[in-house]
Amino acid sequence: MLIRKAYKFRLKTNPALEQKLFRQAGCCRWVWNQVWWMNQRRLADKQRIIRYHEAAFWLSLWKQSEEYGFLREAHSQPLQQTLKDLDRAYRDGFDKNQPLNRLPRKKRKFRQAAFRYPQGVKLDNRRIYLPKLGWVGFFKSRDISGTVKNATVSYQAGHWYVSVQVEQALPERVHPSTTDVGVDLGVANFAALSNGITYDPINAYRKYQDQLARAQRALSRKVKCSANWRKQKRKIQQLHHKIACCRLDFLHKTSTAISENQAMVFVEDLQVRNMSRSAAGTADDPGRNVRAKAGLNKSILDQGWGEFVRQLDYKLDWRGGMLIKVPPHYTSQTCSVCGHVSPANRPTQAVFHCQACGHTEHADTNAAKNIRARGHRVLACGREGAVRLPREAGTCGKPRGSTTYHLNRGGWNPCPLGRGGCQG
Ligand SMILES: [Zn+2]
Repeated sequence: MLIRKAYKFRLKTNPALEQKLFRQAGCCRWVWNQVWWMNQRRLADKQRIIRYHEAAFWLSLWKQSEEYGFLREAHSQPLQQTLKDLDRAYRDGFDKNQPLNRLPRKKRKFRQAAFRYPQGVKLDNRRIYLPKLGWVGFFKSRDISGTVKNATVSYQAGHWYVSVQVEQALPERVHPSTTDVGVDLGVANFAALSNGITYDPINAYRKYQDQLARAQRALSRKVKCSANWRKQKRKIQQLHHKIACCRLDFLHKTSTAISENQAMVFVEDLQVRNMSRSAAGTADDPGRNVRAKAGLNKSILDQGWGEFVRQLDYKLDWRGGMLIKVPPHYTSQTCSVCGHVSPANRPTQAVFHCQACGHTEHADTNAAKNIRARGHRVLACGREGAVRLPREAGTCGKPRGSTTYHLNRGGWNPCPLGRGGCQG
């Protein structure tokens, strides 16, 4: 099995090199925006847009011209790659089958700076050769294996990074584990597994939101575009970057832990975009509980479920496991023992108590069991909704003690208070 994988490292830069990097990124942005403007005019006139080959021809003309001669200083391949990316963005934007069919937008200065080398990158222990820029050192945080395919250089919160994409040949393997598990993703517990394990959420944004608010207040008191304003702006960017890094680290550790221990994982097919829609409504028909919903939306988006499911999918694939998405309807209101569905089954957020058979369990674990059962039905019949007979009376047990896992220095570890002893 051939897989593509990326390694991201921070570059060791100096002011002279940074200037060159910004110039290259600036040329790429200029080329993108130039073709974008031409296309905007063509779309307004209801004409066909410029495809890659025509755009590449325009690029060669600009390079020869006196006025846009600065493009000659930049390496040509990232410029062409930018045009290819724009072409791809238009194709995806017009494609009705894409989940996010949105046309490409103009690139803004100071917002994003990035460019990609489709080839010509060489690696040598702790340094990387970037064409036209030379050898650049980087902070090598891990070993790289595989053949280098391309490299993307990007600027984020005051630092330059390089992301090296490699191709690796993985042997086809059988997952060492034989167990399968249902995973319920939530806000109070990040993930609850049907075998009783729960993972605490990290809530990276909540953790730093006071600090962020303070920094943003300080920014509002400064004169716009002054030196102090820029310094403060940089602080805010770094805080946002930190939040994103915390969340990503958490998601990777959790998805690795689950994909190593389970051969098959069932998750709900969640539509995070619909779930986190604003409750504000319109001016004529204002919504209710707008602030409460906004708070919940913040928590939902803080979790990163979409990214988590994506990671779980490819990590299971690499290890020979499998991820299966199941329809999410009523998983939290259904009894995992007798199948009784009622909102009254949830007296509180954390507890599930069946009104029909008296089964009591941690609400998220109960939902995870439903997801697992639903996954089995999807596997067996290829569809959801097959008949499920209630088990005989008397099989509903007392809630079993569950183990809570905490993320600490050694990775994910069980709570030292033991089964059922943890209070969060
Ligand atoms: Zn029941």
